[in-house]
Amino acid sequence: MFDYVIVGGGIGGVVSYAILKKIGRNVALLEKEPYLGGCSATFRRKNYLYNAGASTLVGLEEHMPLGKVFKFLNLPKPKVKKLEVPMVVYVGDKVIKRYSDREKTIFELEKNFNYKNLKSLWQKVYSISDANWQNIYSVIPINYKNPKLLLKKFFENCRYIMQTLPYHFKTSYEFFKDHLGNFDEDFKHFLDNQILMTSQGYSEEVPISVGAMGLTYPNLDNYYVYGGMGKVFDFLAHDYKNVFLRHRVIKIRKVKDVFQVITDKGVFEAKNVILNKTIWDYCDLLEDLKENCIKNRKIYSKIWSSLTIYFNVEDKENLIDEYHYQIIHKDINPYTGSNSFFVSVSDKEDEVLTKDGKKSVTISTHCKISLWQDLDKQEYLEKKEKAKEFILNKLFEYVPKFKYLSIENVIVGTPKTFQRYTGRYNGTVGGIPLIKDYIPLRYPFNFTPIKGLYLVGDSVFPGQGWPGVIVGVLNLLLQIEDIDEILY
Ligand SMILES: Cc1cc2nc3c(=O)[nH]c(=O)nc-3n(C[C@H](O)[C@H](O)[C@H](O)COP(=O)(O)OP(=O)(O)OC[C@H]3O[C@@H](n4cnc5c(N)ncnc54)[C@H](O)[C@@H]3O)c2cc1C
Repeated sequence: MFDYVIVGGGIGGVVSYAILKKIGRNVALLEKEPYLGGCSATFRRKNYLYNAGASTLVGLEEHMPLGKVFKFLNLPKPKVKKLEVPMVVYVGDKVIKRYSDREKTIFELEKNFNYKNLKSLWQKVYSISDANWQNIYSVIPINYKNPKLLLKKFFENCRYIMQTLPYHFKTSYEFFKDHLGNFDEDFKHFLDNQILMTSQGYSEEVPISVGAMGLTYPNLDNYYVYGGMGKVFDFLAHDYKNVFLRHRVIKIRKVKDVFQVITDKGVFEAKNVILNKTIWDYCDLLEDLKENCIKNRKIYSKIWSSLTIYFNVEDKENLIDEYHYQIIHKDINPYTGSNSFFVSVSDKEDEVLTKDGKKSVTISTHCKISLWQDLDKQEYLEKKEKAKEFILNKLFEYVPKFKYLSIENVIVGTPKTFQRYTGRYNGTVGGIPLIKDYIPLRYPFNFTPIKGLYLVGDSVFPGQGWPGVIVGVLNLLLQIEDIDEILY
């Protein structure tokens, strides 16, 4: 019998597996696909590889979440390159380089937006974000259902909590309006879409406490991963011992104190189960939690999906020399319901992602689920084609050099694709939006009503992207195992 069975090999599941294995637990990881990674995998189509979703990596330094995990595991890290310009943002007629250097960032913003207080305001944004990063490891572990722990954490972090409290109640939009007065449409689009990328909500919805973290995401150390984001999973899973790929979990039952995890290839028994599923995705797995899971689908209804486009671009002369672009167009994309998209391009020297001079490109958007429901096959195929045209035309309009290069092997992923591929209800990806409706008090934690059944992934505290998911794993494991040294 295993100490732990982990269901799902996304970043949440794999980090849990690696840490538990390191401390000597007998642990199995079950993943339905032939490779690990989920929303952050790198997949092969014909002879080429593409990042399925995530393409920007932050948090690899020793004081950051993934860095702490790698240090604790004492494993080698994948080959990466630190980016001086983590992304270039196109909005209106402006091209804004998001430098990782803070001073250069302010200079670039002042060059593009003419507001008197912008410098001092952006410094304030840095300080809000820094305070969160500096205090995160002292705040965890927390759990709203454990009042004793909550009280202890409150007293330990009293100063930080009191200092940052007002920022939880002011939206990012209000914060900027208070300081700048009225601001123009381009600046609003810029704020909205930079915040959307990491917080899954717009400036009117996202408190500045988290909006600041989104706005300063490019100022963290951002890395390009050679071989794709999926490569990181090979390093974390290390020898793949007890990683069972192509094992789909169908049901989970608890008989006395033992969990029976039933897969399409047999039954695994365990004392504990960690689900790397969202809190609205385990409805069919667990009869006892079905009702609770269905309720979660209603409560967290403001979740996005994604529409993605993958292709190869022949760029032997390296004309496309940046790694990530955010294109913010004014009109709403009728096929996604959002007005921006993110483009990631492989490095010319990446021998895995760039083949025969053809770079691998992933475009991702925020997409409303409702736009892709109730379509018959013909409507679905036509809509995919139109969505592709809309996005590629916008790309050619904003970054014309793409237009003059040869583009091949275009693949379109829709919410339906994400539903099938990740097993997420309606293709919901990206985690619970960090908006006023849900934070701080309605954000779920890692515990379920069933003893020994836990949750990790981007739908539990603090959610969102790799740093959030990894902090969430630490939040769980610090409460159920003795892994305190990972924080030091
Ligand atoms: C388009 C897009 C772009 C993104 N860009 C970034 C980015 O640049 N940087 C960043 O940090 N984050 C990014 N994110 C967010 C990040 O990718 C996710 O938050 C993170 O990967 C989620 O990980 P997870 O562990 O919660 O779950 P998932 O990645 O969903 O993993 C769950 C796993 O469980 C498996 N599974 C499901 N059901 C079963 C079952 N019944 N049996 C067995 N296995 C099962 C799935 O196959 C999957 O592998 C992006 C997300 C998307 C969608």
